[in-house]
Amino acid sequence: MKTEHYETIVIGSGVIGAAAAATLAQRGRRVGLLDQFAPPHIRGSSHGDGRIIRYAYPDALYVDLARHAYPLWQAWSERAGEPLYEITGGWDCVPVGSSVMADIERALTTYAIPYERLNSAESNRRFPQFHVDDDLAVIYQPDGGVAFADKTVRAFRRLAQRDGATLIDNLRVVSIEPDGVGVRVASATGDVISAETAIIAGGSWTGHLLVHLAPGLLPLVSLQVQVAHFPVQGNVDHTKNAMPYFIDYSTPLPHYGLPQIDVPGIKVGWHMHGVVLDDPDIETIVDDTTLPDLQAYVRRRLPHVSPEPSKIITCRYMMTPDEHFVLDTLPGLPQITVATGFSGHGFKFAPVIGAILADLASGLRPEIDISEFGIGRFTTT
Ligand SMILES: Cc1cc2nc3c(=O)[nH]c(=O)nc-3n(C[C@H](O)[C@H](O)[C@H](O)COP(=O)(O)OP(=O)(O)OC[C@H]3O[C@@H](n4cnc5c(N)ncnc54)[C@H](O)[C@@H]3O)c2cc1C
Repeated sequence: MKTEHYETIVIGSGVIGAAAAATLAQRGRRVGLLDQFAPPHIRGSSHGDGRIIRYAYPDALYVDLARHAYPLWQAWSERAGEPLYEITGGWDCVPVGSSVMADIERALTTYAIPYERLNSAESNRRFPQFHVDDDLAVIYQPDGGVAFADKTVRAFRRLAQRDGATLIDNLRVVSIEPDGVGVRVASATGDVISAETAIIAGGSWTGHLLVHLAPGLLPLVSLQVQVAHFPVQGNVDHTKNAMPYFIDYSTPLPHYGLPQIDVPGIKVGWHMHGVVLDDPDIETIVDDTTLPDLQAYVRRRLPHVSPEPSKIITCRYMMTPDEHFVLDTLPGLPQITVATGFSGHGFKFAPVIGAILADLASGLRPEIDISEFGIGRFTTT
């Protein structure tokens, strides 16, 4: 058993906690970054070769957040000495005349983000990787891209450590308690860590981490989702050099995917379709419904891709009812900040969320308006 003290302790070293720790360490704060495993690992939400980064959102709130995130992706890539993201262009497929089409175009226009609207023939000519029917259109946004997931988690952790943070892996936190104006954290092995402030970034375990501290406060649902890689057949280039990321709003729950990055084949997923995980410690629940749907999608939309998957990956979403994030201090406990509810779309914002969390944990008011991400929205009627 050991006792340690930090200015800020970050619980959870997925992309969000690691980004917060790297930002705090860069600002000279004494940080401890804890994880029950040794990230990147495959049990949480941040693993794999890629994630979509984009401005194209139906909600202008996230277009604005992306405007803050993009320059930080560049800055962190420079600090890391390697690119953590790459621009591929973004291909958002929408039913002609739909509300999602109007919403994305309006949100992009609000912030003067350039885009093109392509009809099906134009898209099929320009992007032969996809087959689009006449009742669909494509919003092409040239700044869309992919972030390199595992590489980013490693980079944030490495840079945090380089700037003085202590990385403590394989240490499971079992209790978090206010200690006067500070915080006291205990591990399953009896270690006690105290800090002036704490950031809880526990991914799908966050509900468990808050169970004594703030019981029932956040209406979070942990969802296990599956994505699959499908091999390319033929000569059409499906690498990130030629193919944009894609999001397809033609079904009630969108499908999405990435061009080929490191893992052979292109990754395809079905947003928000999954199995509720009552116990985040369960490794995998068998899900018979996702793969047949992904295969049908591949047959319908990706003419040069085999519907026989080469790899299936399980991952987790931590959902809020409104799919907006939670970035706030706990009511009455300004020393404890919670970062959760990323609802399957948080990775692209990790650098800016890291900065927001670093502000909150240092008693500073974030430059960006985070009122939409407050806990109060669940507590006021
Ligand atoms: C299939 C899939 C596709 C996605 N695609 C995109 C995309 O294209 N674009 C995008 O922007 N986002 C995407 N997302 C969402 C994005 O990946 C997540 O929002 C993000 O990774 C969440 O990171 P996190 O740090 O909150 O959680 P995690 O990565 O799960 O990290 C939480 C960490 O906390 C640790 N922890 C938990 N409890 C304890 C404890 N008691 N003690 C110690 N450590 C603990 C865990 O071990 C874990 O490492 C996708 C998610 C999935 C699953």
